[in-house]
Amino acid sequence: MIDFFKLKEIVLSNNSFLLTTHVNPDADAIGSETAFYYLLKKLGKEVFIINHSATPYNMEFFNKDKIIHKYDENLHKDLFNNVDVLVALDFNRSDRVVSMKEPFTKSDKLKICIDHHQLPEDFVDHLFIDSDYCATGQIIYDFIKQTNIIELDLQIANPIYAAIMTDTGSFRFERTTSEVHRIIAELLDLGVSPWEIYDQLYDQSKFSKIKLLGRALNSVKLDAEGRIGYMVITQKDFDELGALESDTENFVNYNLSVENVVIGILFIELKNGFKVSIRSKGNIPVNLLAKEFGGGGHINASGARFFTDNMQEMIPVILSKAKGYLN
Ligand code: 5GP
Ligand code: MN
Repeated sequence: MIDFFKLKEIVLSNNSFLLTTHVNPDADAIGSETAFYYLLKKLGKEVFIINHSATPYNMEFFNKDKIIHKYDENLHKDLFNNVDVLVALDFNRSDRVVSMKEPFTKSDKLKICIDHHQLPEDFVDHLFIDSDYCATGQIIYDFIKQTNIIELDLQIANPIYAAIMTDTGSFRFERTTSEVHRIIAELLDLGVSPWEIYDQLYDQSKFSKIKLLGRALNSVKLDAEGRIGYMVITQKDFDELGALESDTENFVNYNLSVENVVIGILFIELKNGFKVSIRSKGNIPVNLLAKEFGGGGHINASGARFFTDNMQEMIPVILSKAKGYLN
């Protein structure tokens, strides 16, 4: 149970807040920041949103007011010591903010974390976390409803809807409960337009992204008698197509659409290292698999980043570890 009244007390008794989220943010990350930003603004607070990553272009519609900034050491470093509260949204480990890890951890200001991932690190003063929530956006919804700290309106309903929609895989993952649907019903009553948000997030892809998806699909291979499916995207793919790392969002799920596959893995070669995205069906805890390589995540969705350039060598090593999680 999250102590929402403690969170309310922190919000009401402080004046300035710096919100941040994880590297390579998804719509739960950006949506939660945006929803929390407008909540704080309605209370007259001073608020900054500073992220390690640039906002992906399909989420720029959240940022019409230009409220989200990419971290620039010269411009933003002092902010970490000048605001009253640092708020970590949708992540629970300090290394998830990459270039901002140092200013975040070294700041002596009050730090709080609002999140729904498992295996949290002890990196803040107050953890407002519960992994039963389908999205961090759902936690913000509950915070508003349980404390009545503000009145929910369309400006806040829109990003909360986007957060829940993406983190439930458009209302199909396990934590898509009747409660989630009741929340969604209320958000629609406030005026949220499902098709417009879906269209912005998923149906405005750059042509290069769709071509990259083609390469990823073309690379799919099966292992472990067809129970593991995996894809590989190389730097050459990115370069030849002019595609970006953020274009790979959701590609990993295609592995799981192959019959009998219960673990899907996407290997992505980056300029400085590589990234592994892992998904599973049922109760296969791929967060523990990712943790073996310094990563983390949820039971059915996890990942890890490697700052080494030996992806091809590591593929069989990671596949072999993954086999240990079948059954
Ligand atoms: P994705 O595959 O979409 O990048 O990540 C899926 C989930 O895995 C994320 O929501 C996040 O919880 C977790 N994750 C991905 N990469 C990392 C990582 O490098 N470190 C940790 N701790 N978690 C990660
Ligand atoms: Mn999330």
